[in-house]
Amino acid sequence: MHVNVENDDELVCPTCGQEPCLAASLPTPAGHTSVILCPRCNANSPAADTVTPLLAWFALHEAAIDQNLDELAALVRRWLEEVSRPSVPDAALRAALRQWERRAVSLDGSQRA
Ligand SMILES: [Zn+2]
Repeated sequence: MHVNVENDDELVCPTCGQEPCLAASLPTPAGHTSVILCPRCNANSPAADTVTPLLAWFALHEAAIDQNLDELAALVRRWLEEVSRPSVPDAALRAALRQWERRAVSLDGSQRA
């Protein structure tokens, strides 16, 4: 199973048009489905138990780095398990989040070649 976590400037929430914290592309029997974590629209979602800590994480951290990757991975895992079944293997999730981390770093410009 493959999960793709996206951090893309072009991405907007389909409901409010704001930039989401996080988007994930998840495999389904029919192909792929995208789930978006929007700080506005998801704040009062039915999955608030998993969404609230994740939104709080994004409010506190600008990007995933080694020091906070485990914490973020745990929060994203809980969120993805809420919005999708079955669960996501840890290795796939960590790999996806590392990709997100590199993306955030390059958008910041601090490690541009
Ligand atoms: Zn929204």
